[in-house]
Amino acid sequence: MKNARGALAVAVALVFAALARGDDDPVPLPRTETEGETWRPRTGLDGPPRAPAPLEGFLDLRGIFHAHSRHSHDSKVPLEKVVAVANALAIDFFFMTDHPSPDSLEKGLRGRHGRTLFFAGAETSGLLALDLREPVRGRSGTDAIAQVVSQGGIALVAHPEEWTEWDAPFSGMEIANLHYSAILAKSGKGEAGKRAIAALAKLREDPEGALLAIVDPAKLYLDRWDDLGKKRRVVGVAGNDAHENVKIGDVQVDPYCRSLRVVDTHLFARGTGERDVREALLAGRGYVAFEVWGDSPGFVFFARDKEKKTVALLGEEVHIESPLELVARAPAGGTIRILRDGAVVSSCEGEELALEVTGGGVYRVLVVLTRRGREVPWIFSNPIYVREAD
Ligand SMILES: [Zn+2]
Repeated sequence: MKNARGALAVAVALVFAALARGDDDPVPLPRTETEGETWRPRTGLDGPPRAPAPLEGFLDLRGIFHAHSRHSHDSKVPLEKVVAVANALAIDFFFMTDHPSPDSLEKGLRGRHGRTLFFAGAETSGLLALDLREPVRGRSGTDAIAQVVSQGGIALVAHPEEWTEWDAPFSGMEIANLHYSAILAKSGKGEAGKRAIAALAKLREDPEGALLAIVDPAKLYLDRWDDLGKKRRVVGVAGNDAHENVKIGDVQVDPYCRSLRVVDTHLFARGTGERDVREALLAGRGYVAFEVWGDSPGFVFFARDKEKKTVALLGEEVHIESPLELVARAPAGGTIRILRDGAVVSSCEGEELALEVTGGGVYRVLVVLTRRGREVPWIFSNPIYVREAD
């Protein structure tokens, strides 16, 4: 325990030193924070990896959406810890979304700290209101979206289970939210509920198991996303909803390092700057990865014509005039599936799946793995929206 405290103190001191220098070097890694909270920082990654073909020229940036700090009423996590964990997990960009408070925007994390580029924002009016300068006070979600956009921010739907204004012009939505997964599992119903009960019995020996038991994204979210995609592009991201405020007995189930390690959102960006991240996000050029099950870089999804020329990348719309081939590639070990409007239309074990399509649909990829004796979802791509010619 003493050593753990010492390690955290060293990490915090190093972070302060890095902040003071304002340099771009990754902050050295804390390894153990509190008893029972040992975790493995990502290593051997000096910077974000290059994206695979046909996205040469892009980087595969790893990022976090939806996280709280001591600026929120329901979290006590110091900003120095947010930075230390983000750096240790090789997070390239980080959208903070504190519940609004006097300090959340004024003193929120912005700019580059070590490896990680931070954007200050808010969880407000049912939105992840990203990259804000001023507070948002909307009477409705639609009002709030207008306020976010007018100050140059980006509005995504948070907690889709609570949102009602589905015709509003948000840019994207959470397709997973760890907090909502926990609520579902707490009911004890369904497979996740049963797994959660079993995991709670072994909480002390395997505290991570409690979180891993429940991490599946909600069908409610995915169905909504597939449906919206028939009308327009809607970017899908993962909501980590990190608070570090769930304790069962004296076991912290959701230490920050764990909530950030379980799932993240990757964007294929042309560089590592603010503009690059924002552009990639609005383009939907990315995917959600439950990276706790395995590193996801190497994944890619695109469409090509019969001359093998790339005609669309994930996140893009393409009008079909002649047959197209959709191609999904993933790191080894998983089962790749292509879904059309939410239903699986093709599947294979291996590293590449290609599918010829002749009609419109919202096509996205799901890669699954077998872990802990069950099939677990690993990678969710943003869709390629194939539209019929008018
Ligand atoms: Zn939240």
